[in-house]
Amino acid sequence: MSYYKGIQCIKCGYVGREDEAFDACPVCGTQGNNVNFTTTYDFGQDLEKVRQEFLNAKGKGLWKHREFLPIAPETEPVSLGEGETPLLHCGRLGKSMGLHNLYIKNESVNPTWSYKDRLCSVAVTRAVQEERPVVTVSSTGNHGAATAAYSAAAGKPCVIFTLPQVPATMKTLMQSFGAYVMVTPKPIDRWTIMKKCVKEKSWYPLSGYIAPPIGSNCFGIDGYKTIAFELYEQLGDLPEFIAVPSAYSDGLYGVWKGVKDLQTIGLSGKKTKMIASEVFGSLKETLKEQAEGPVTVPSEWSISFSIAGPQGTYQGYAALKESEGYAETSSDEETIAMQLRLAKEEGIFAEAASVTSLVAIEKLAKEGKIAPDDKVVAVITSTGLKDPATTAEHLPPVPTIEPNYEELAKALKESYGYELK
Ligand SMILES: [Zn+2]
Repeated sequence: MSYYKGIQCIKCGYVGREDEAFDACPVCGTQGNNVNFTTTYDFGQDLEKVRQEFLNAKGKGLWKHREFLPIAPETEPVSLGEGETPLLHCGRLGKSMGLHNLYIKNESVNPTWSYKDRLCSVAVTRAVQEERPVVTVSSTGNHGAATAAYSAAAGKPCVIFTLPQVPATMKTLMQSFGAYVMVTPKPIDRWTIMKKCVKEKSWYPLSGYIAPPIGSNCFGIDGYKTIAFELYEQLGDLPEFIAVPSAYSDGLYGVWKGVKDLQTIGLSGKKTKMIASEVFGSLKETLKEQAEGPVTVPSEWSISFSIAGPQGTYQGYAALKESEGYAETSSDEETIAMQLRLAKEEGIFAEAASVTSLVAIEKLAKEGKIAPDDKVVAVITSTGLKDPATTAEHLPPVPTIEPNYEELAKALKESYGYELK
């Protein structure tokens, strides 16, 4: 079964029809605000029954709690074994930040090595359920790779629109799954053509195609709820803070929805706060100004290209306002330093955008907004292997040596600063 009920606007509560799901709310639109729809669920009166079902669920991975996903009970999930990722206590890194309970939710071990697999598993399953002819997405990488893989698993053609400057590794990954990958010279053009295909050819969109952006497919976003469910199961309750790298905030809002589900059915009373880590700080500025909607800030190309947008979304703002959370920025310099620190101190090589969550946590801890004993989870969204060339620029060239101790000791010292004892 599924508790899924319908969709409504995140801001004004307008109850939409499913065929309106990928366009911004028409009511907020008349006031000049672009706002995404979100799914709603009806858990009924007997919440004890819902709690028991949750606690006694037997499945594995993302589909373990499928009654909390917007998929009809008779629909077979399109799954590659996503979810159920490790939660790791970061003793060394946490200590250096003055935090005793710093954890990493390592989403880089998902089937296409990013947390986008959660969104795509649910959204491609919806595409199958609705018998759509083609799956499409606009993406700078991870979202495209995941869409391509799940479309392949579903046997659906997949057309991806991307940008010229996206790393070659990402484009190869997308094409390798059989997706038809296109570049449009102007960024805005990718949304124009995608929208046309959705409206006129009934293609199924896994990302948004609206400017200013609203976020992705609202059904797929519910896939991220399962991160909150897993954290609850892995920690025995929700943590005090969950930090998620954010551009259009699909992940941030999806995880927050999972937190709200657990609060609504009475499994957790924890006041979990969401943290958005950004590159240029649209949501940080929006919170500061208490603006009506997400403000635009100056932006440029960043090594955290998957989250390097000039403007956040209303759904991201909503997650921060509702949870009384924070947004914090990470410059490329801070990001690369954290990427190498995480790899060296904890053994996890994460994508640049992923570690912005740790930079944000460290800054908030320094400001006293996170207390030393608070449980804090950084969602590591993807692997560093998606863009190794950027990291390599910050590492020494590998020295070639003759096989003797003198040369070894010299090279260790000169290249790595390591003294042989
Ligand atoms: Zn609205």
